[in-house]
Order: sequence, then C-alpha cells, then structure tokens
Amino acid sequence: MSEQLNPFKIAQAQLDEAAKLLGLDAGTHAALREPLRELHVSIPVKMDNGQVKVFKGFRVQYNDARGPCKGGIRFHPEETVDTVRALSAWMTWKCAVVDIPLGGGKGGVICNPKEMSHSELERLSRGYMRQVSRIVGIDKDCPAPDVYTTPQIMAWMLDEFETIYQRHEPGMITGKPIAVGGSLGRNDATARGGVYCVREAAKALGIDPSKATYAIQGFGNAGQYAATLMKEVLGSGNLLAASDSRGGVYSEKGINPHDLVKYKLETGKVEGFPGTKPISNEDLLELNVDVLFPSALENVITTKNADKIKAKISAELANGPTTPDADETLYKKGCFVIPDFLCNAGGVTVSYFEMVQNAYNHFWELDEVYKKLDLKMTKAFNDVHAMSKKHKVHMRKAAYLVAVQRVAEAMKLRGWV
Ligand code: NAD
Repeated sequence: MSEQLNPFKIAQAQLDEAAKLLGLDAGTHAALREPLRELHVSIPVKMDNGQVKVFKGFRVQYNDARGPCKGGIRFHPEETVDTVRALSAWMTWKCAVVDIPLGGGKGGVICNPKEMSHSELERLSRGYMRQVSRIVGIDKDCPAPDVYTTPQIMAWMLDEFETIYQRHEPGMITGKPIAVGGSLGRNDATARGGVYCVREAAKALGIDPSKATYAIQGFGNAGQYAATLMKEVLGSGNLLAASDSRGGVYSEKGINPHDLVKYKLETGKVEGFPGTKPISNEDLLELNVDVLFPSALENVITTKNADKIKAKISAELANGPTTPDADETLYKKGCFVIPDFLCNAGGVTVSYFEMVQNAYNHFWELDEVYKKLDLKMTKAFNDVHAMSKKHKVHMRKAAYLVAVQRVAEAMKLRGWV
C-alpha cells in the first residue's frame, strides 16, 4: 500500500493512535476526527489588467471547546481544503499542548502571491476578509499570518474587518505590525519557541547546544530566525546548511546565519552565498548534523528518506513535515523529533499574548514577552517529554496524548460528548 500523503488523513491517523492509547470513548473520538465548521468562499478580485479573477478560499474551525479558534491564513498556489483541515486540527492540538485558552482554526486562499502586485494582494486580502468576517472575531476565531502572508496583509484584513463592523477590534487578528496593535516579539516567536525546545531536548539528550551543528530546510520567516537564534540564544555557531525553494547551500566550516539572512533579503535566495557549495533539499535533510530544522512545507521526511536521516534532533518548525510511517523509523533510529505542534507553538503563544495585550490595550516590554514565552514552551516540552517517558512512545504521540486529553476534557465538561 502506498504511503498516505494527504495531510488531513495523516492528522486523522495521528488522532486515531492517540485515541487508542488514551482509551477515548467512540463518541469523543468521532467528534474530534472532523472539523466543527468550514466556510468555502469565492473571492472576485479586480486585477491590475482590468480583468476579474476569482480566487477560492477556505476558513476551517476545527474545534473551539477550549476557547475561540486560532490559526493562520496561507496564500499558496497548491492550497487544498484538506491541507487547511489538517492545519486546523494541528492548531487545536497546538493551543492545547501549550495550554492557552484557544481552539484551532486555519484559513487558506489558492493563489500565487509571487505573481501578484502589491495592490492585487491588498484587494485579495480585503476580499478574503469580507467573505470570512461573518465567522471571525476576537471571541469567535482569530486569524494570523502563515505561509506567504505577512504583517502587512494582517493590517489590511484588520482594516477591512473594522470598516465592516465600524469599531476597533485589534485582537481579532494577530501577527499585526506594531503600529496597529502587534506585540513585540511576534516576528521571531515561532523560531524562538522552537529554539527553547531544542535547548530542553539537548538537555535531555546530553548534547552541548553551544557545540551543536544544525541545518535549516526552508529559509523563510521561521527558518531564518531559527538560524540566528541558535547562535543568539544557545551560542551555537555551527549552521552547516540552509535551503529555500530555489536550492540550498552547504559549508562544512559553518555559515554565518546573519550574513546569510542579509544575502537572502538582498537576492531573494540562499543559492550562491559566497564560501558555500550548492546542496539539494534532499541531501540537506540527510546531513549528519545535531539539529535539523524542517521549516518549509509538509511531507518532506517520508519512508523514502527516513532511514537516511542522521540528525540527532529534528525540530519541526514546519507543520506536518514527517509522515506517520517515517515517524516510526525515526523513533527506532533514535532521532529525537520535537513534533510540529509543540516545536512551532511559540508563534501562536505570542499571538495569544498579542490578543491579551489588545484586550487590555496595554503592551508589554520585549523581555516580558520572551520570559513568558520561555515559561510556556519549557512547561509544554516537559509535559510532553514526561508523557513520552511514561507511555514509552515518541514525542509526537506523547504531544497528542497531552493535547487530546485536554480538548476531550473541555468537550466533556461542556456536555458535547
Ligand atoms: P515562509 O513563506 O516565510 O517560508 C517558507 C520557506 O520555505 C521559503 O523560504 C520557501 O522558499 C521555502 N520552501 C518552499 N518550498 C520549499 C522546498 N520544497 N524546499 C525547501 N524550501 C522550500 O513561511 P514560514 O512562515 O516560515 O512557514 C514555514 C513553515 O512553518 C510552514 O509549514 C508554516 O506552517 C510553519 N509555521 C510558521 C509559523 C510562523 O509564525 N511563521 C508558525 C507556525 C508554523
């Protein structure tokens, strides 16, 4: 039988395993297997050439038993509703695993932002918000940036929402620029949370993080910050490789992450960075490094390459980079996976801090954000690690056990199941 690559089927299979281990009753299990609600929209956009193009978009609200739904919006040419469903499920588990009072949701639009002008992108962003404004809001469902969406896009969406409802409600969307109510520390929060997890994993495995070598697949928002924060937070100066959709670079002597970020900003790629050799995305994943950061898209570690992964720690900043079959192989090989919805939960955690600050209309200093984020991530890592030792299961299963238990408890208390 061929390996399952549909992200939603994967998310359901992961839940099924957790339900079995937890001995979840059939009703609760069935209720957790499907999104509670989803909205499919068509967005007509006047393009710069005067033609109207109709874009398809989605907003999926997976589960809100623990609080309003929360989750990013992706703009991607290969977006599918099943990807959005899977991501909304993972958001549910993510908010539960870091124990913030939010449920899970996700949005997406099928489009290629790289081929759109600034004003076309603005009209699409506003058009999407007009369509989903009926189901989002601070106490219903709070969107945020994700792949190919930016703080600027969040600002347009906020403005459209506030124009429709004729009031200020900055907490209805997060990842906003600071000038319109964003939080300090949001930009690097996903990567920072991941790096805090790497610090804890290194402690558990007896690895000295200051000497750790690392490689980054996907040198975008999450990946670039991970590269620099490994140095700033953990003192590790050994970035050996990095890649983006156009190709990768490798140097056995190490790459200065700040210089590579600067080069990527100037040229739009990592390829050709001075003093490095080219490396394919496939070869990068199989490098002999202490820490691998899969930070691009889904299904990059599968049964095809899992047995060739040599990293001691796989810190999943991307959502869904490893298939369930590959997970088992990695576990048997002794590769310590920090699963996506734990490893990349720093972003949603600071998004939650942003909602809190918006509700108070009072903003925290940066060191307060970092301190609170560290506390949340360290506690979440240790909860999951303790569960993994208790049940003798890998970290992803353990994270599911922690998260599903919390969501199921809220559903039971509400009398839904
Ligand atoms: P981004 O668009 O800033 O970066 C994605 C990067 O991946 C880009 O550099 C792109 O060139 C690269 N890429 C695309 N296809 C690739 C391929 N086949 N091989 C190698 N690189 C490839 O997006 P991001 O915000 O950094 O998100 C990356 C991942 O992290 C996604 O899975 C996203 O869901 C997840 N994530 C991001 C955040 C966040 O706050 N940014 C939070 C949680 C999870």
